[in-house]
Amino acid sequence: MPELPEMEIVARRLDAVLPGETIESALAPGINALKTFDPPLQALAGRSFTGVRRRGKLLALELDGNLVVLLHLMSAGRLQLHPKRASLRDRTARLLLRIPGDRELRMREFGSKQAAWVKVLRAGELEAEPSLAGLGPEAWPDPPPLRELLDAPRPLHSLLRDQQVITGIGRTWVDEILNVARLSPFKRGDDLSDEEGEALRDAMVSELGRVLDVYEEQVALPLPEKFPKPTRVHAHQGEPCPQCGTVLEAVFYEDYVMTYCPRDQTEGRVLKDRRLSRLLK
Ligand SMILES: [Zn+2]
Repeated sequence: MPELPEMEIVARRLDAVLPGETIESALAPGINALKTFDPPLQALAGRSFTGVRRRGKLLALELDGNLVVLLHLMSAGRLQLHPKRASLRDRTARLLLRIPGDRELRMREFGSKQAAWVKVLRAGELEAEPSLAGLGPEAWPDPPPLRELLDAPRPLHSLLRDQQVITGIGRTWVDEILNVARLSPFKRGDDLSDEEGEALRDAMVSELGRVLDVYEEQVALPLPEKFPKPTRVHAHQGEPCPQCGTVLEAVFYEDYVMTYCPRDQTEGRVLKDRRLSRLLK
């Protein structure tokens, strides 16, 4: 669930307090989310934070000695700066970076999938790091023109969530962006007019910016387990469209929902429920 706005506010909040703090110890308890072994996790002890940056949905904790902790929370990970240390029996804990004052930067993961990951890298290795090298341009604050970028025979709903095409957007904010741009989730990228491409780009910048503004007001350290959800469309099926008041419809997939306005986005058509069509096959 953490997408660009969530990771951006996490980066801002941590970057405001972590630089200068020294890691006392580093632990990766329980299920091993740590995907690298050289340099070892223990190399982090004694290092000080120099900055925290976001790239797409990834976060880089920069340390002196040219070390970087790169992490991806995937769908169910959380990162919080706790004023107290966790019990080592906390089964959701994946990475604990302990800093003075008994505080702890804690990555946890909820749910049944174990997908969140951490890498300890040398700064010089970042350029070749596959999880970064393949990323498309940032969806915010200044994405490139979209008609050219999305020129592929694939639906917008999937293109916009493809991190190699454009990075930062997931299942939640894609619904909001497409609604504001008044575009069908199933419109093909190579079918966008110049005008539609521009409307989509404007919607992307304004929606992600709107969400960030809300987080700037509402999200504080130690960082929430659950973020506020300033959604107006995603998972709001049955409620009025924020643009026109028509009742929002949804397509349900196995583990997520795609919500849209039939009047603004699909020329009045209500799309098939994928769950039903699968059952009926
Ligand atoms: Zn509408």
